[in-house]
Amino acid sequence: MNKLEITQQVLFEVKQHKLNEELKVQQNLKLARQKSKEFAKLETQLKEMQIEIGKLPQNSDKSNELKFELYKLKTHMIKQLNKIGMSINDITPEVNCKKCQDKGTIGSSVCSCIKETVNKKLLKLAGLNENATATFDKADKKILKENKQLNGLFEFAKKFANDFPNIKKNNMVLIGPVGVGKTFILECIANEILKKNYFVIYTTAFNFSNVLLNALAKQQIEQQEIFNSFIDCDMLIIDDLGSELVQKNLSNANLFNVLNERKIKNKSTLISSNLMPEQIDDKYGNRICSRIFDKRNTEAYLVDGKDLRIN
Ligand SMILES: [Zn+2]
Repeated sequence: MNKLEITQQVLFEVKQHKLNEELKVQQNLKLARQKSKEFAKLETQLKEMQIEIGKLPQNSDKSNELKFELYKLKTHMIKQLNKIGMSINDITPEVNCKKCQDKGTIGSSVCSCIKETVNKKLLKLAGLNENATATFDKADKKILKENKQLNGLFEFAKKFANDFPNIKKNNMVLIGPVGVGKTFILECIANEILKKNYFVIYTTAFNFSNVLLNALAKQQIEQQEIFNSFIDCDMLIIDDLGSELVQKNLSNANLFNVLNERKIKNKSTLISSNLMPEQIDDKYGNRICSRIFDKRNTEAYLVDGKDLRIN
């Protein structure tokens, strides 16, 4: 399944939910009318009053007066419902998204609720979980104050996330030992970009490599879909490059393909690693290394210093 097909499926599910809710309400209304003559009477009055209000100029004295009457009528109706063991919820459709009222679209654009669901489905399809929980405001201010270098990187990351996708160099590499805050910073960026409703895939190199290797055992179409989700997402974050088991030829070819396609499509890729550039060169070869550290579109940071795992 590609992004468009998933979007269509999600839109269909949302519309189906809306329809089911409306049917549920209609059935419950029918039941309420059968059980309570008083409810049925009040309901008719309510409808008549709504039509009446619709004819009047807005905010006129008469209209405001009727609106107050309408409110009283509704209160009576709820009391009648309670008498027959029902509640207001039984005659109100459940709305999951207040923004689009479960229409899935606002005007001609797709609502953010759909985009979020599609994003989750895409992650699941790629065999990944949403595990970006850190946010910029959760950073330890004391640590940042003490460590100018980390603070500089932190501010850069924040600006990067804020400005995305309008950034000059859309790739970022963070190099440094375990515990200096690389993962935290990447998760902060992922969260910020997700909030803006972009398609982000956040993965450890270990997962990334496994998913792609497993994909090769699947049917061609499914294989391509998994590759496509890595290639087409707005931002791909690969954490801890070098931690994965490299089945040399296969893993390297997969990594190169994804990085290369993303470069051609001008998509943003963020990588962190404990390995120094020359070690990356040793492990993955020059082709991959030069893609990762391409100065024309990449900001590379060396994060060293003592253990500064934030949060
Ligand atoms: Zn919505």
